Amino acid sequence: MLPFSRVAEVFFEIEKRSGRLEMTDVLAGLFKETSTQEIDKLVYLVQGILAPPYTGIDLGVGERFAIEAIASTTGYPKNEVEKNYKKSGDLGNTVEELIGKRKQRALLTQEMDMVYVYSSLLEVAKTSGTGSQEHKIKKLTEMLNNSTPLEAKYIVRFVVGTLRLGVGDPTILDALSVAHKGDKSLREELERAYNICADLGYVARQFYEDPKLIAKFKVQPFRPLMPALAEREKDPEAIIERLGTCEVEMKYDGFRIQGHKKGDKVELYSRKLEKTTHMFPEIVSAIKKLKVKEIIFEGEALAYNEQKKRYYSFQETMHRKRKHDIGAASEEFPLKLFVFDILYLDGKDLTEQPYQERRKLVEKIFKSDVLKPSESKLVKDADGLEKIFQTALNEGLEGIMAKDLKAPYTAGKRKFAWIKLKKSYGKAVDTIDAVIVGYYLGHGARVEFDFGGLLVAVQNEDNGKLETIAKVGYGFSELEMVELEKMLSKVKTHAPPKNLDHKLEPEFWVEPKYVIEVAFDDITTSSIHTCGMKGEKGYALRFPRLVNIRTDKSVKEITTTNEVIEMVELQRTKTG
Ligand code: AMP
Repeated sequence: MLPFSRVAEVFFEIEKRSGRLEMTDVLAGLFKETSTQEIDKLVYLVQGILAPPYTGIDLGVGERFAIEAIASTTGYPKNEVEKNYKKSGDLGNTVEELIGKRKQRALLTQEMDMVYVYSSLLEVAKTSGTGSQEHKIKKLTEMLNNSTPLEAKYIVRFVVGTLRLGVGDPTILDALSVAHKGDKSLREELERAYNICADLGYVARQFYEDPKLIAKFKVQPFRPLMPALAEREKDPEAIIERLGTCEVEMKYDGFRIQGHKKGDKVELYSRKLEKTTHMFPEIVSAIKKLKVKEIIFEGEALAYNEQKKRYYSFQETMHRKRKHDIGAASEEFPLKLFVFDILYLDGKDLTEQPYQERRKLVEKIFKSDVLKPSESKLVKDADGLEKIFQTALNEGLEGIMAKDLKAPYTAGKRKFAWIKLKKSYGKAVDTIDAVIVGYYLGHGARVEFDFGGLLVAVQNEDNGKLETIAKVGYGFSELEMVELEKMLSKVKTHAPPKNLDHKLEPEFWVEPKYVIEVAFDDITTSSIHTCGMKGEKGYALRFPRLVNIRTDKSVKEITTTNEVIEMVELQRTKTG
């Protein structure tokens, strides 16, 4: 049995280190001491979750409740706990200090093992209904009564959602391989398995049961795959040069849906892999009518008005859904799902099949009024591609997606299997997706939310760091400002995100959680932004402006530093 004190010790070790190699070794050491029955639970704890996002299991314990539990464990009155928290800025540090000098101690304490802590947290998460808050506090108090100061620190951070060890999934994958094999040689297999089921605990458990299961790992209904991502090129010529003859599909600016069906059961997952089945009843019933036993496929849903021949964008579609009740909205603005890929059919994993074969199946299977294949055309040269691109823009679409005929489905990866070409915004060449890491107040001119701009960052894949790239101060509607204020004030933090490289200090730091799409004129070098920084020079966006708040995108999917560097290259070849 793995004692929880050992886990806390390792978390403490990891917190002191910032290098990925060191973290990997420390974590691999812990994994070696972990049994098959325990490994899935431990992996979730390291990830700061209890189960993958699509299960909908969320702790749901606010700071207020954690403070009550801390008060009742330590014997300090609530206002003292709050006072200490105001000073420390971290409820984990507060509980660590107060338990260290607690005024009372439970009579019977027992050493906790990791599985007990995990199961207790799961119980807290699953308790609902009347009296559930009391029960949650009681359970949490029970755990804290049995905790050392260090254990209490991590339990409380976990519970209020601020664990943030700075260990990313790639480090966990490396550590699993190192624990078993002594090196990272199994990393690639593990990563593929993770990409096609999005459940790292499950992958780890299978791996511990029998490492050979990982090489044979297959897609399964109701285990959503990590979505494949698209690369960009500057123009039709560049796309043809890279892909040769390719299939060019319309790019719909809708809501990405991964549909799963087995027998009569249907589930839908969003791009972030949250379950969204309840949001799209009309799509669910269309899927139930498909003449297949089991299927997993992907498409883009958006409202379409037949009479006006008009597509509604993601924002408009969602807005309509919120305004009308879902049923009414379904009738007035019928949703279509434009299917663009198929990943599994009647027991067969199709992810390794070439796109061309998968596309044939898409065209054969999806023929109803609601579910149809994305419109597409086989294109041999740049002229042909340009023509379709213009057609897409004329129809009010966002652009096109060119697809490599021979490529497999690249789950969880940004590859040149898919290349996007989008309409430009004003003078803008393109847009990036960046995560908000902080914000500034304005100077009175802007109503309601006294708002001065957002500090945003991209992700450096090579070292796992977030790097700032712009201060975005334009492009906000009043509504968006109010919405942002509501979202950001809830995730303010005292310190910058642990994995952020920065030179600027915004007025408020926030948890890196919300993604926005930003347009810009071009990319310049900068001494104050850290994106791709070499020596004193990094990259920054010129005239950055907000296009959209992308609640459908997760931090994992933001633009990477390497992509920014590629964009700089594209910019150079374009302007000479
Ligand atoms: P972006 O969000 O600009 O990186 O573009 C990628 C997104 O375009 C995907 O995540 C899909 O949601 C969406 N999309 C729209 N139409 C297609 C299509 N025909 N093929 C693939 N993705 C598409």
